[in-house]
Amino acid sequence: APPTTPPRVEVRVDLDAVRDNVARLRGLVAPAVLMAVVKADGYGHGLVEAAGAARAGGADWLATATPEEALALRAAGDAGPLLCWLTTPGDDLRPAVAAGVDLTAYAPDEVAAVAAAARAVGRPARLQLKVDTGLSRGGATPAGWPALVRAAAAARDAGDVVVTGTWSHFACADEPAHPANDTQQAVFDSALATMADLGVDPGLRHLANSAAALLRPAAAYDAVRCGIATYGVDPAPGAHDWTALGLRPAMSVRARVAMVKRIEAGAGVSYGHRWTAPHDTWVALVPAGYGDGVPRHASDVAEVLVAGRRRPLRGTVCMDQVVVELGPDDADRVEPGSEAVLLGDPARGEPSATEWAEVSGTIGYEVVTRMGGWRTVRTH
Ligand code: PLP
Repeated sequence: APPTTPPRVEVRVDLDAVRDNVARLRGLVAPAVLMAVVKADGYGHGLVEAAGAARAGGADWLATATPEEALALRAAGDAGPLLCWLTTPGDDLRPAVAAGVDLTAYAPDEVAAVAAAARAVGRPARLQLKVDTGLSRGGATPAGWPALVRAAAAARDAGDVVVTGTWSHFACADEPAHPANDTQQAVFDSALATMADLGVDPGLRHLANSAAALLRPAAAYDAVRCGIATYGVDPAPGAHDWTALGLRPAMSVRARVAMVKRIEAGAGVSYGHRWTAPHDTWVALVPAGYGDGVPRHASDVAEVLVAGRRRPLRGTVCMDQVVVELGPDDADRVEPGSEAVLLGDPARGEPSATEWAEVSGTIGYEVVTRMGGWRTVRTH
């Protein structure tokens, strides 16, 4: 007989939420088109499943970090426009070229590598060019930009590549008043002007991530690349009225209470006795810990929903368990097997990724990518 034990930690992904969020974002950014970012296993929601839901919501493009992720989508049957941007010298680019995946070049030698792959495969490669407008990550610096554009023009003229897009990435889009945003956009405009001078069509122009898509409409150009907002997590907490946008979190994380017990005043709780019971009280053991993505920095400060009520974590987050203090009238209500919601929809009183991030010094992105993964159950 198949095992009947439910998962210790159940990560549910509501793919309809991903689909609906994409449809909503698409409406918000039109006439720019939407590129849904599904790297890092769809931010923990599942690469292939998140991609399918995003396409169902009308995602015109998908984007991944690596060619491997892009090829996994092709293998799963996705035939639409698909961009990736993270290769390492020595990578075999031929499969991505053969699969019609858009690659990104940051430097002339990368154009050469893509062109060589195109000749080997026997079809022109789809190539996007990235300018570093101030993140100091990938991309040609403004000084190196003309050389990159010339290299791409030469490869285009040789029939090895088609330049399909030109793009950059913001450093501070979640801080809309940060002066770097204006500076980066001005550098992007000047890079586009250089391309025009050199006679190279930029193809699809894109600069905005989720935060910029929502907070800086003037940076929409032809497309926006939305990752975190696709999954219903606020890209810029405190900078705007997130709840008014009507996007909803796709991921929820649940566990069942493993034990309830009485402890006496003065009892030290969990490793390091970081918390000591100030009076006799009840605690519940929730079997999820940092091995499941619960931030250890949330020790003593986060809350989870136990049998429908907010209850505080007490003491250090362990590898696969946390201790939660129950309220005075919980002893009759909470029992082994009661539901604990660690992550969910704040509209239902459940802790959000943003809330976990705030109490543990990180960002909602890290919370969902760590809590998701192999345990995930995806539902429509
Ligand atoms: N574009 C690039 C180049 C990225 O690396 C990312 C993710 O970090 C995104 C877009 C999507 O960003 P966000 O999840 O903030 O929308």
